[in-house]
Amino acid sequence: MFGSTMNPIANNLNALRIHIPERVKIIAVSKTHTAEEIMQAYRAGQRQFGENRVQEICAKQPLLPSDIEWHFVGHLQTNKVKYIAPFISIIHSVDSSRLLKEINREAAKNTRIIKCLLQFHIAAEETKYGFDLDEALACISSDECTRMNNVEIIGVMGMATFTDDMDQVRREFRNLRHYFDRLKADRFSGMDSFNEISMGMSGDYPVAIAEGSTMVRIGTAVFGERNF
Ligand SMILES: *Cc1c(COP(=O)(O)O)cnc(C)c1O
Repeated sequence: MFGSTMNPIANNLNALRIHIPERVKIIAVSKTHTAEEIMQAYRAGQRQFGENRVQEICAKQPLLPSDIEWHFVGHLQTNKVKYIAPFISIIHSVDSSRLLKEINREAAKNTRIIKCLLQFHIAAEETKYGFDLDEALACISSDECTRMNNVEIIGVMGMATFTDDMDQVRREFRNLRHYFDRLKADRFSGMDSFNEISMGMSGDYPVAIAEGSTMVRIGTAVFGERNF
């Protein structure tokens, strides 16, 4: 009676861990799920959780154990950075120099260094946020950026098109990998800290891992369908 039937979230995580190589970090995307559901994953050993709304992450974070590493994966408005700056571990969705500058400012106020990923626009859909390669290069090459002491850019993030066409998804992830390689060669060579490629969700993580993902952001396959 205990174990397998008692905790479907633990079962889901254990099943994912069988398929996902140890070098790839699983970020459990807990948006819309309760603190109790997050605790079920926590008790199964999960420590990295992702949320995409500021209000929601700020409501949950104080209710949960302090050794959880919180990741922000959604579009972030500059005026809301201050709410997550005291505790956020990694922001996956940096998509403008203005946002990066604000994260640096709020991190400094909290005497922290916040790790950031540059989000690239790799999907065919118009609605997804993110840099293209020239914009990202311009952002990180600016004098302003090189003077930032409270952000650490550790890699890139992207979301593929929402489609069943896995050849298209593979091409998009391959593009993101290419952008990572370009940034690494041009601006971060020899910097071991620039080492992360955040790509892959419940529907496409095997393709993402095959294309070099180091972090998969998985919601539905951990927690089940989202509650709205
Ligand atoms: C919701 C979300 C995910 C997880 O999506 P699933 O398909 O449920 O795994 C990953 N990344 C981002 C940016 C998200 O908003």
